[in-house]
Amino acid sequence: VPVHRIRNFSIIAHIDHGKSTLADRLLQETGTVTARDMKEQFLDNMELERERGITIKLQAARMAYTAKDGEEYVLNLIDTPGHVDFSYEVSRSLAACEGALLVVDASQGVEAQTLANVYLAMEHDLEVIPVLNKIDLPGAEPDRVKQEIEEIVGLDCSQAILASAKEGIGVPEILEEIVHLVPPPPDTIDQPLRALIFDSYYDAYRGVIVYFRVMDGRLKKGDRIRLMASRKEYDIDELGVLSPTQVQVNDLHAGEVGYLAASIKAVEDARVGDTITLSQKPATEALPGYVEAKPMVFCGMFPTDADQFADLRDALEKLKLNDASLNYEPETSSAMGFGFRCGFLGLLHMEIVQERLEREYNLDLIITAPSVVYRVTTIKGEVVYIDNPSKLPSPQEREKIEEPYVKLDIITPETYVGTLMELCQTRRGIFKDMKYLTPGRTTLIYEMPLAEVVTDFFDQMKSRSRGYASMEYQLIGDRENALVRLDILINGDPVDPLATIVHRDKAYGVGRALTEKLKELIPRHQFKIPIQAAIGSKVIASEHISAIRKDVLAKCYGGDISRKKKLLQKQAKGKKRMKAIGTVDVPQEAFMAVLRLS
Ligand code: GDP
Ligand code: MG
Repeated sequence: VPVHRIRNFSIIAHIDHGKSTLADRLLQETGTVTARDMKEQFLDNMELERERGITIKLQAARMAYTAKDGEEYVLNLIDTPGHVDFSYEVSRSLAACEGALLVVDASQGVEAQTLANVYLAMEHDLEVIPVLNKIDLPGAEPDRVKQEIEEIVGLDCSQAILASAKEGIGVPEILEEIVHLVPPPPDTIDQPLRALIFDSYYDAYRGVIVYFRVMDGRLKKGDRIRLMASRKEYDIDELGVLSPTQVQVNDLHAGEVGYLAASIKAVEDARVGDTITLSQKPATEALPGYVEAKPMVFCGMFPTDADQFADLRDALEKLKLNDASLNYEPETSSAMGFGFRCGFLGLLHMEIVQERLEREYNLDLIITAPSVVYRVTTIKGEVVYIDNPSKLPSPQEREKIEEPYVKLDIITPETYVGTLMELCQTRRGIFKDMKYLTPGRTTLIYEMPLAEVVTDFFDQMKSRSRGYASMEYQLIGDRENALVRLDILINGDPVDPLATIVHRDKAYGVGRALTEKLKELIPRHQFKIPIQAAIGSKVIASEHISAIRKDVLAKCYGGDISRKKKLLQKQAKGKKRMKAIGTVDVPQEAFMAVLRLS
């Protein structure tokens, strides 16, 4: 394909605004996928994604399109994940494009997560084409939403396309606009090869499948390639395009998007953002923007049954083959026995991994509350990074603790501003700015410790705004705070996975709320169980769970047979998610209690 007839673009949209539906439409309209073959929503195909209605893994699709000018164009759609945890991958996909469709639900408006990606696209000098979707809905207000986009994004919307991905309205116009507005890739075929990896996944038979955009030069099947960051070399076994299923080709050149297989053992060796060049005639400089994604959130994972430790290790190893940003190392806890400390890009990434371990590998796990990474300076002047509260050096040993902060953008209907400001306040938020976007819609900007965001903050924001507010955040660095470790003692023994790091001013409140919550969550035993919260040796809150009385037990054994069965089943189910700590059975929910105190 001549370079001037290639267009590379992605779609930016808030969750549920119609990105997948539109992508399907584009594939159908260009005849890339026939209606009969169209498995609904071709682009997000992971089971988890479907259930949650989010895009986790990037995919790409190549379409042939004959435009009104009679010429045949190749349009490469590169999909982007729609969640802040994966914003680095989004940035690499955008770097592989010259244009982006900004899809906004005309009955809703611009949302916070969209903004982050639009700004990224503009930073990369992409041509952004606004599309107002769902105009078939009676509640659609395209004019208001146009005004909102102009106000917030600063994008001219006079030519915005009115579309309904569902009804197929506006789809031909979108294809024409892509051809006319998105610039063709620069013709750099004669330069040494540089291809940008924007996605990769592990295939048990062919090794890692790498998705890339050729930025300069060309490559063909059989070529020996070098990955510039990992410094590894491989021979290309298979080269192809995604239309949208993999179709082999012999060579690809600057401007094209494709995949390759080269017996690469793990995605770690071909990370997103790395540059592919040729071993024979290497490029002198890698493409800009490569970063090794750093885990931001850590938690402990312990098998409920100690016999499953080896299974858990094998499962993590397998997941790691396919997920370079998953980190783990063995952890021993006095209360929990052997397990792993695992690092993730964010809460969603953490949940995805947990769910896969439980569903695909049939593991019963106890998962401890997530922690951020604290930067601790010791009195000797050393800097240590602590991702496990129970490992925090004692007050005598430490000079200061710093914690990561984020800039938080919330977009909300005006009505909820008060309650959301109050929420941010209780989460140690520092108010920065408030702006009216259009009459009735407001943006709030706060700076807040990441530790406060990775609790139930998102759920609280949603429930306080009846689902109407959206948020987005980005890291802005570490800041010193008066933080202390709050220990929890059950039956007189400290339980290390229940330790948390909190601000000194909140310690008493958290201690009280947490002991009360644990009292609710931990079942009664045949003996009395004291539950205490302590800072150092000082107990700041205490509760106790009273013993089960004999007659209560007796009552359980009365009743009809089906009820008894139900009770037994319930107990068995409950047992699965219990961990015996000393003589006390502690349920999974207790380990997460600290996240849900308000
Ligand atoms: P994504 O999360 O951005 O990928 O959004 P989806 O494509 O999964 O769409 C979210 C929901 O909106 C689905 O129930 C779609 O059927 C629906 N939807 C998408 N486009 C339209 C549209 O143009 N009109 C209407 N009425 N519904 C739409
Ligand atoms: Mg989708």
